[in-house]
Amino acid sequence: MEDLKVIQGKTWQAKKMGSDYVLNVDFGAQLIESLEDFVRSEDIGSGEISGIGATNEATLGFYNFETQEYDTKTFQEQMEIASAIGNIAYKDDELYIHLHITLGREDFGSYAGHLLEATIHGVAEFYVRSNPFKVIKSKNEENNMWVYDFDR
Ligand code: FE
Repeated sequence: MEDLKVIQGKTWQAKKMGSDYVLNVDFGAQLIESLEDFVRSEDIGSGEISGIGATNEATLGFYNFETQEYDTKTFQEQMEIASAIGNIAYKDDELYIHLHITLGREDFGSYAGHLLEATIHGVAEFYVRSNPFKVIKSKNEENNMWVYDFDR
């Protein structure tokens, strides 16, 4: 493992510094899709993600405990990614990037929620602290929640 190198994805570029990365997602690219591609290509087992930038279309989810599903809504307007924060883990064997986001609007109000996808419109500056060790979540069948399972 090289400690310092620049790597290129289809829709992102990253500078690897030890186990940390500075990551750029391209104008027009899908943020979650790009982050997933990055995590897969670097074989990251767990990690922490934070970022800022801008988007003009974002789909957010709000977990509805009645239906036990996400209610979703897509916002189409120019918005600042005022704050995106989340983590990298696996739901059983499947990569899951759990990312929450606050989107700043033109009138300085905001939307916030669980990010399902966003189209970058402006920059996307992300920082990832990574670890090769996999962190796995298991589904708690009683409450339908995916929870860190440290026995796996
Ligand atoms: Fe969430």
